[in-house]
Amino acid sequence: MRYDEISFEDRMSTVNFRVGERAHIEVDTEICRSCTTRECVTACPANLFVPTNDGGILFNYEQCFECGSCYLLCNKAGAISWSYPDGGTGVAFRKG
Ligand code: SF4
Ligand code: SF4
Repeated sequence: MRYDEISFEDRMSTVNFRVGERAHIEVDTEICRSCTTRECVTACPANLFVPTNDGGILFNYEQCFECGSCYLLCNKAGAISWSYPDGGTGVAFRKG
């Protein structure tokens, strides 16, 4: 099955999250205000980037797959600060 044929609910049901207190990804929403392309919104498989009516971006790190797509695709320097979650926290992939 192709990745884009899997429903959002099925995709999310394959993972567990142990949420860390520290955000491993931070988004500078002031920089995002001048972004017209919004690659993060399209690319994030967990739908964690949400555009707001006033031109901003809401971001929540808690259900992040740690895939790195947002960091790789964002073309505005400094908009995304990335690090891995602290040990014992973050995503855990389950089989089946
Ligand atoms: S994170 Fe990057 S791609 Fe997403 S809105 Fe901000 S500047 Fe644009
Ligand atoms: S690393 Fe992947 S899952 Fe996490 S916020 Fe970025 S695109 Fe979304």
